[in-house]
Amino acid sequence: MVIDCHVHLCPPGSDPDEYFWATAKFAATSTSTETAPARNNREKIQEMHDAIISLMSDANGKKLLRAMRQASIERSILLPLDIWPMVPGSEARPGALGIKEKNLLYHELAKEHPDTISMMVGIDPRRDGALDFFNHVMGMDPSPVGLKLHPAAAGFYPDEPACYPFYKACMDWGVPVLFHAGGDPAPFKAKYAHPLYIDTVAADFPDLDVVIAHCGGNLWRDAIEVAAFKPNVYVDFSNWQMAFKANQDYFWEPLRRAIDAIGPWRVMFGTDSPFSSAIIPTNAWIEQIRQRRSPRGFSFNDREIEIFLGEAAKHLFQL
Ligand SMILES: [Zn+2]
Repeated sequence: MVIDCHVHLCPPGSDPDEYFWATAKFAATSTSTETAPARNNREKIQEMHDAIISLMSDANGKKLLRAMRQASIERSILLPLDIWPMVPGSEARPGALGIKEKNLLYHELAKEHPDTISMMVGIDPRRDGALDFFNHVMGMDPSPVGLKLHPAAAGFYPDEPACYPFYKACMDWGVPVLFHAGGDPAPFKAKYAHPLYIDTVAADFPDLDVVIAHCGGNLWRDAIEVAAFKPNVYVDFSNWQMAFKANQDYFWEPLRRAIDAIGPWRVMFGTDSPFSSAIIPTNAWIEQIRQRRSPRGFSFNDREIEIFLGEAAKHLFQL
C-alpha cells in the first residue's frame, strides 16, 4: 500500500507568479555547472519558469490522478498552500485563486474521489476569520484530515500566540497539524520554518499530533532531534527527490537515522508533487524506494519500507 501524504495541486492562478519565478531561479541555479552566476542567466530562468508552469498546471486533478494510477498510489493527501501573504496585494489580481476558493476546490476534488483523495485545510492563521473558515471546512463532508501551515511563506513562527487556537481546534477535531519545515527560495524566510519552533508547539500540546514536513529538508538532524524527544511528532520525507538524484545516500542516511531514532510508525512517505515529480517521476521514485540500493549500505527491512510507504500515514490520518 502506498499513501502519498504530501501533495499539492496547481490549477491556474493558484499562487502568485512571483513564487514560480523564485522556484525557477532556485531550480536554475542549484543545478547549474556554469562558472558565471547562474542567478543572472535570465534565459535559463525563463525557460525553467515556463517548464514549471506547464508541468505543474493541473486544473482539475487529472494529471495527479493519472500519476497516482501509474504509481499505484492508493491515496493522496492534498495540502493547500497559503502563500498569497508573501506578495501583498497579489490575491486581488485578476484570475487569482483566493485561499478560500483554493481550499474549497481541493475539497471538491476530495468529494469527487473519496476513495483516493483526502485534503487538509491550509490557511495563514493570522487572516481575518481564519479559524471560523478552518472549522467550517472541517465540518464539511468528507472531513479534511488535518491543518497544513506554511510559516515561511507567510512569515510567522509556529509558536506565535495567533496559531494556538488552531492547535486547540485540531485537537477538538482529532486531526494533526503539518508544518512546512526547511529552506525555501526568497522571499520566503527559512527562520520561520526551523524545526525548533515546531518543538515548542509539540511541548505545549503533547496530545496534538504534529508533522514536520520534508523531515526539515537539510535541517533533518534538527527535525529528528525534535521528534526523538516528543512522541507526538512525526516526519514526512517529501521533496527528497533532488537530494536523492544528486547522491542517493543523502536520502537513505536521514531515512535510516529517522527510523532508528523514532521507529517506523512516525516516518511517512510523501512526494511534494507536482514540485518534485519533475525531478523523478513518482512511479520511478517509489520503485527506487522499494529497491533500496544504498551505495554506502544503509539497509531497511521489508516491513520498515511497507510502513514508511503507506501504513504509517494510514494510521496517523485514520484513513
Ligand atoms: Zn509541500
